[in-house]
Amino acid sequence: MAVTKTIARVLDGSAAANDIRESLRPRIEAFTEIGGRPPTLGILLAGDDAGSAVYVRNKVQRSEELGIETILERLPSTASFDEALAVVERFNANSQVDGILVQSPLPTGMGADAEQRVFETIDPAKDVDGFHPLNVGRLVQKRAALTACTPSGIIELLDRSNVEISGRHAIVIGRSDIVGKPLAILLLHRNATVTICHSRTKDLARLASTADILIAAIGRPAYVTPAFIKPGATVIDVGTNALTNRDQVETIFGDGSKKLVAFDKRGQVWSGDVHPDVAFVAGALTPVPGGVGPLTIAMLLSNTVKAAETRQESS
Ligand code: NAP
Repeated sequence: MAVTKTIARVLDGSAAANDIRESLRPRIEAFTEIGGRPPTLGILLAGDDAGSAVYVRNKVQRSEELGIETILERLPSTASFDEALAVVERFNANSQVDGILVQSPLPTGMGADAEQRVFETIDPAKDVDGFHPLNVGRLVQKRAALTACTPSGIIELLDRSNVEISGRHAIVIGRSDIVGKPLAILLLHRNATVTICHSRTKDLARLASTADILIAAIGRPAYVTPAFIKPGATVIDVGTNALTNRDQVETIFGDGSKKLVAFDKRGQVWSGDVHPDVAFVAGALTPVPGGVGPLTIAMLLSNTVKAAETRQESS
């Protein structure tokens, strides 16, 4: 008798992101009607990182599709830290700008702590990425107005996919300021029992396999194998890794796989942090691309509208 393997339910981030964007449309129209101008997002793109250029293009396109205006300021990779700061200060002072986004990474020449210092300069009321220390503090105290986009997008996806959070054991692999830490706090606020893992965690696979909800935010292609997974667990793959080596694509996805065919056409494919075989053990899984990524942009737009409305109410 042939044995059929069950495959995890796909948590469709693109569809959820589409719903979130559409729900913003009437709010954007109302804001524009009352204020006589659309909600506006100021974006700083410094340097020539190819990935950053693609992310910014997507953010601009998605904003404009909805009627959010964008002001894009570009700086060359040779620009100084003070030039980046000056752009942010101009956005702060511009009463027409509701949200400010500084695309990471900043050029290395600006210094190791440049990002932190630039984030600290953003007016907290316009901090649509939620990285300003004031907004991080408010998040910890469960009274955040603007929350980091990738973590809040993941909570949205879990809710919209009817994944129970309260009382479940959630394990977050990764402790960055932009994903791992804020996500762990949000899960805690939703009454999950939360474990945060990182590169020094011992016996990671065994520990991870106790999670009802496992989130991989590591940045290592296919690192999370079936050995990390409790059967039926919900697995959120945050990793966005560009694969440019054919052998690596074949090793991860297999000969004859769709990814290998795509690689042979384009010379690059995306891999998450989660190995494709995890789909045979997990109960639900986000794809890469089409999982967490679209939600990150949708939450950025949502934060921009929220910031615009709050500024309009208080003016
Ligand atoms: P990051 O700042 O580099 O942090 C990576 C985390 O993974 C660190 O906490 C690190 O531990 C941990 N780690 C590294 N190797 C590990 C290992 N072998 N075992 C256990 N933990 C390990 O990365 P990030 O900014 O959080 O991003 C993570 C991934 O998500 C990247 O692929 C990024 O491109 C992607 N991402 C996607 C989106 C999206 O919208 N889809 C948004 C943001 C990020 P230590 O702290 O001990 O070094």
